[in-house]
Amino acid sequence: MAKPTGRAGMGRAGDSTRAVHSGQRDRQESSALATPIHQTSTFWFKDSAELREYAEGRLVRDEYGRYSNPTWRAVEAKLSELEGTEQTVLFGSGMAAATSTFLALLPKGGHIVVTNDCYRRTRQFIQQYLSKLEVEATVIEPANTGALKDALRDDTVFFFTESPTNPYLRVIDLPETARICRERGVKVLVDGTFATPVNHRPLEQGADLVLHSATKYLAGHNDLIAGTVSGSAEEVAPIREACGVLGGILDPHAAYLLLRGMKTLALRMERHNANGQAVARALEAHGKVRRVWYPGLESHPDHAVASQLMSGFSGVVTFEIEGDLDATIRFTDACQLPYLAPSLGGVDSLVEMPVLMSYWDYPPEERQAYGITDSLVRLACGIEDSEDLIADLQQALDRV
Ligand SMILES: *Cc1c(COP(=O)(O)O)cnc(C)c1O
Repeated sequence: MAKPTGRAGMGRAGDSTRAVHSGQRDRQESSALATPIHQTSTFWFKDSAELREYAEGRLVRDEYGRYSNPTWRAVEAKLSELEGTEQTVLFGSGMAAATSTFLALLPKGGHIVVTNDCYRRTRQFIQQYLSKLEVEATVIEPANTGALKDALRDDTVFFFTESPTNPYLRVIDLPETARICRERGVKVLVDGTFATPVNHRPLEQGADLVLHSATKYLAGHNDLIAGTVSGSAEEVAPIREACGVLGGILDPHAAYLLLRGMKTLALRMERHNANGQAVARALEAHGKVRRVWYPGLESHPDHAVASQLMSGFSGVVTFEIEGDLDATIRFTDACQLPYLAPSLGGVDSLVEMPVLMSYWDYPPEERQAYGITDSLVRLACGIEDSEDLIADLQQALDRV
């Protein structure tokens, strides 16, 4: 039922070349250059002989739209190529990718290790749903390899972390983490949403699987929701099967938009990286800003590791306003360019206050435990001109 995505064979070509060409050189019936949107729920067989050939595994083709679709396949092959691996499974959201992966890999009563700085719905899935399977989770500080060593048990199935994390952009020492986990037979799963394969390729540094909310940088235009999981054919096989059973798939039209967005991934990341760095520096130098977290700044706790493992630090900048909740609200409301909205990774800059957005329904003590203060701001720089972004932030900071 599941179809291999294969590698499109762009070899050692650069990120931009691969982002444009990978996964799209299969000759289509019409010789159309753009990959068609295969807007279909099912695929027909010529006769029972063909069906039998397929059922017996002698013919590789599509069968039903929950298992595979040619438009998906182009996206999957493109991302596999960018991640430098064999296989990718496309999902209808980043959450579908994460939840299906967890369910595919975990036995009843299994143990996992996760980090405390992470996407809140991933945390909720672990607490609210995986507990029904009696799965136990040990939560550790990101980037603390000593705590990781202590947390691993004989029944630990995997270590799951974002890198960089949200919202503090902690960067994991992946080669060291992978060494520790491999010794104990534990898989390493990395949510690489904030970095993209242009800035960081976790699979090349020892991770077993890399997940993305493709909603963010991969799609890049704030216009669709999608998710992915990539790794070796062997690692990905049970996850592809889980996708077909759990059904968290992507619509072919959204797959087409994602494919289109990914063609400019490397180009967009250059600007996101440059804007993130310039904005972080400007904020750090501003008297109304108490503290800035950005891996490209020397002041970030993981600057050294990040500089070694990553080739850019993306567009998300987290900072604290020198002031209380009201002062912070005056700042975000005064921003003219960034939209006040959740999400990140699109061409339009977005700004949010975690205390009012992702964490609004948490009790104050719990928010504090996750380090979410009243004056915390997360800015996702888009691809606007950095001078314009900085000038806008400066006029908004004047209102603080
Ligand atoms: C947005 C996000 C998710 C969830 O992805 P969706 O596509 O919104 O389902 C997971 N992890 C990280 C790091 C994210 O930023």
